[in-house]
Amino acid sequence: MRTFDYTAAASIDEALAALKEYGDEVEFIAGGTSLILMMQQGLVQPAKVVGLGNIKELRGIKRSADGGLEVGAMTTHRQLETSPEAFAYAAALPQSLGVIATIRIRNQATLGGNLVHADPAQDPPPVLIALDSTIDVVSAGGGARSIPMEAFFSDFFETTLGENELLRSVKVPPMPAGSRLAYKKFLPRTEDDYATVSVAVRLGVDPDGKCKDIRIGLGALAVTPLRAKAVEKALLGQKLTAASIREASALVRDEVDPLDDVRGSANYKREMARVWTERTIASLANIDLKVNA
Ligand SMILES: Cc1cc2nc3c(=O)[nH]c(=O)nc-3n(C[C@H](O)[C@H](O)[C@H](O)COP(=O)(O)OP(=O)(O)OC[C@H]3O[C@@H](n4cnc5c(N)ncnc54)[C@H](O)[C@@H]3O)c2cc1C
Repeated sequence: MRTFDYTAAASIDEALAALKEYGDEVEFIAGGTSLILMMQQGLVQPAKVVGLGNIKELRGIKRSADGGLEVGAMTTHRQLETSPEAFAYAAALPQSLGVIATIRIRNQATLGGNLVHADPAQDPPPVLIALDSTIDVVSAGGGARSIPMEAFFSDFFETTLGENELLRSVKVPPMPAGSRLAYKKFLPRTEDDYATVSVAVRLGVDPDGKCKDIRIGLGALAVTPLRAKAVEKALLGQKLTAASIREASALVRDEVDPLDDVRGSANYKREMARVWTERTIASLANIDLKVNA
């Protein structure tokens, strides 16, 4: 590993000052669970590493007055998994953090580090896309901006975060009245694996059984996490039945572009995307696919 200089920033301003001074020679370290591996493999070779662990402003989970949620970048997966505020927002949100790797990793790894690392098979991105979340970013130039979650990921392990920017928090808007969230991670190998495919759905159904709200996030199905817009469009305003869910879910096959890897061929994952999209929507709509087939 290349020798590097380390400083622990005490505030966001200090972290941004390091960005200004060292430019692309600096890497922030959050939980370190990915960065250290990347440094050991020589994939990232910073001259300066700046620790974010002492910055209090980057930690914590707050419920906003409108019923939304704001999660600081340095919040660990385990803190979000066990958060009463997150549970009150939607039980499936903390549950989706509980399927990441092992407790040891979840105690160390942070939400901000996860998003910036941008592995397309990670669990938080599809959930946060389904929830219509935004990423709150501050820059060394003094500016701040908000990036919709679905626009944050630009390529394999790449994001639209600028070199002079720091991810401050994730903002989750209030859940639309009557909508619910579900996340399904397909794990045919081991319980602590990355997803073979994953599907997150936010769904609202009106008293007539028609779909009044739907957002679908997908993981491990392309070089970035995705939103399944064609499936959403096919179901919005439609009566939800086993047949309509099946027909719409089949459209996901053309929305994804999976990679062949150790977890399965692209064709297999495309088919699993259809199966898990259908099952996740049906579970939220309380439709038994076998009974109603
Ligand atoms: C064995 C193992 C299994 C895993 N399994 C899963 C899994 O099943 N599902 C899953 O979702 N994830 C999984 N992960 C990933 C894990 O959840 C972490 O989220 C991820 O490793 C990075 O988080 P971190 O806090 O350790 O970030 P770090 O490793 O510290 O940083 C990662 C990158 O983010 C940058 N960064 C960190 N914070 C900020 C910030 N606030 N602003 C700007 N840049 C920042 C760093 O500079 C670095 O480039 C696994 C990791 C390991 C090691």
